[in-house]
Amino acid sequence: MDCIFCKIIHREIDSKLIYEDEHVLAFDDNNPQAPQHKLIIPREHIANLNDLTPDKLSLTSHLIATAQKLAKTLNIADSGYRLVINCNAEGGQTVSHIHLHLLGGRYMTWPPG
Ligand code: AMP
Ligand code: ZN
Repeated sequence: MDCIFCKIIHREIDSKLIYEDEHVLAFDDNNPQAPQHKLIIPREHIANLNDLTPDKLSLTSHLIATAQKLAKTLNIADSGYRLVINCNAEGGQTVSHIHLHLLGGRYMTWPPG
């Protein structure tokens, strides 16, 4: 399967990995949109949010719990941060392996672009 994030998981391409466990990995976004911009992905290839079905509830929780933990480690928990999951073309998704963006270190604007 030609998936960039699966290649990162299998160490076929490099990434700046900051966290991994049996379910998820986290690494630096290589085109950061904020002083802190990390991506958290499941090891399982799930294409998008529509495929994150209720039977994967524990994985969903784990992705969010990981973001919460990283926000503390990165010292942005109290100042604030944003979690984003883009879904499909109009949602702005460019990599078809579900990922949670963790963005922080600056004021975020609303509405998003
Ligand atoms: P999205 O547009 O929500 O699908 O987000 C995909 C994100 O993956 C973008 O923010 C890209 O900058 C990032 N990205 C793409 N390829 C890589 C890579 N090889 N290493 C790190 N981040 C990547
Ligand atoms: Zn994948």
